[in-house]
Amino acid sequence: MNDVIDLTKKQLEHLRVLGVEGIQSVHVPALPQRLPRQREVIEQPQAESISPNSLFGNLSPADTALAPSTETFEQIHCEVGDCTRCPLYRERTHVVHTEGNRKARLMFVGEAPGADEDIQARPFVGRAGQLLTKIIEAIGLKREEVLIGNINRCRPPGNRAPTPEEAAMCKPYLLREIAIVQPEVIVVLGNTAMKNLLDTKEGITRLRGRFQDYKGIKVMPTFHPAYLLRDPSKKRETWEDLKKVRDYLDSHRSPPNNTDE
Ligand code: URA
Repeated sequence: MNDVIDLTKKQLEHLRVLGVEGIQSVHVPALPQRLPRQREVIEQPQAESISPNSLFGNLSPADTALAPSTETFEQIHCEVGDCTRCPLYRERTHVVHTEGNRKARLMFVGEAPGADEDIQARPFVGRAGQLLTKIIEAIGLKREEVLIGNINRCRPPGNRAPTPEEAAMCKPYLLREIAIVQPEVIVVLGNTAMKNLLDTKEGITRLRGRFQDYKGIKVMPTFHPAYLLRDPSKKRETWEDLKKVRDYLDSHRSPPNNTDE
């Protein structure tokens, strides 16, 4: 500190010798207010943030199509095992896996097993399941020709809807099966199945009867057969929805292979 004072004294003496008689205080203008803003600009990310849409235009559902899967149902079912990943395991009798034709063009997805399914370890075998079988047959298919699964594989106590956490825990197995089979159409039965597959907050009454998209696969939301058992007047709308599915499948059938062998 003393060094600085001594140096300043020497400089002042030097200036006096040179004829300088005094030093005016000079007003130093405040730095322009823009400075912090310039810094803000520098701190912003250099690269403009790029959304997929800005690169490729509006992404159509086909752009997010499911990649082919090399897994098998057996691998997935083995991985599920005697699952204890969510609290539903405590009261279930059996884990109920997806069943049916693994080359199906059409898949049905419900909510979770009920009492009969829990006992028999098969999806949709109770009263609602029998109605589902009739619905399948009404559009000219056999039950064995389609694929049938649920968002959750364990029966919720008292047949309550699975919680979002329970659904989120189990849904990935269903999605992996969908990736294996890649059906052309999925019919989601009721609110819980629809909301979970489509990740939507819309209700079934608003979306039913209109094709939706799951990664390039057509999804038709319709009423759950258990709801139809409670309110048979809704069967007419369900039939309208299923006719759209039948018409779609009929109009997208691959032409017969007529080449002589
Ligand atoms: N209800 C469902 O949602 N799934 C079944 O398997 C049976 C009833």
